[in-house]
Amino acid sequence: MAQEKSIVNNKIREAVLETVCGITSRLPENAVYEVAFAGKSNVGKSSLINTLLMRKSLARTSSQPGKTQTINYYRINKGETRDGFAPDCYLVDLPGYGFATASVEVKEKWGRMIEHYLRTSKALKRVFLLVDIRHAPSANDRMMYEWIVQSGMESVVIATKKDKLKPSQIDKSLKQIRTGLNLAAGTRVIPFSSETREGRDAVWDLIREASGSSDSSDSSDMKGH
Ligand code: GDP
Repeated sequence: MAQEKSIVNNKIREAVLETVCGITSRLPENAVYEVAFAGKSNVGKSSLINTLLMRKSLARTSSQPGKTQTINYYRINKGETRDGFAPDCYLVDLPGYGFATASVEVKEKWGRMIEHYLRTSKALKRVFLLVDIRHAPSANDRMMYEWIVQSGMESVVIATKKDKLKPSQIDKSLKQIRTGLNLAAGTRVIPFSSETREGRDAVWDLIREASGSSDSSDSSDMKGH
C-alpha cells in the first residue's frame, strides 16, 4: 500500500472531466479560471495531470498518440476554499502535437483548435508548455511557444521526466530548453517528474498564482478578497 505517500499540500477533494470539446464544439464560458497544458505527444502531459490530481488515470495516457484531438476540461475542487487544498479551477488538457503518423488534415485541425482556444477563452489565465527535459525543443514546440506569446498569455515551461537525467545533466538541459525556445526573459522553467512527483507543489503554486493574473474576467464565482 505504498502508493500514495502522504500529501500535505494541494489536496484534491474532487476532479471531474467536465467538458470535452472537439473541433466543432463551442468552447465553454467558464466562471472559474482555467490553466492549460500543451506539449507534444508523449511528453508526459497525461502523467503530469494525473500527478497533479493524485489520480492514476483520470487524464488519458497516450497508448495511441494523437488519436484523441479534443480539449478536455477538468474541474478541480469545485467550491473548495480550505487551506491545504488545490484551488477551485479548470485544468485544460490541450491535444498533443508532433505525432509522426497524423495526416495533414489532423494536424491542421489541431492547429485551428489550439489557436482558437488561446484566442477566445476568456477564463484562461496561464499556459504551461511541456517539453521533455532530455531533448532540444522541436519546431512544433517553438511554434506552440510563439502562439502562446502572441495570444498575450503568460507561459511557464515545464521540463518533464526529470528523473531520467543525472543531476549533473540538469542545468545544461534547462539551458538548452531556454535557448531552443528563445524564451522571453523572466519566463520560468520548472523541472518536473511524475515518477518522483518533484515539481508538483511548484506547479500548483503557479496555478494558484495564475488566478490573480490580470487580463481577466469578471468572474462572479471567484471569491477574491
Ligand atoms: P502524453 O502523451 O504527453 O500524455 O504522455 P504520457 O503521460 O502518456 O507519457 C508518455 C510516456 O512517458 C509514458 O510511458 C509515461 O509512463 C512516461 N512518463 C511520463 N512522465 C514521466 C516521468 O516524469 N518520468 C518517467 N520516467 N517517465 C514518464
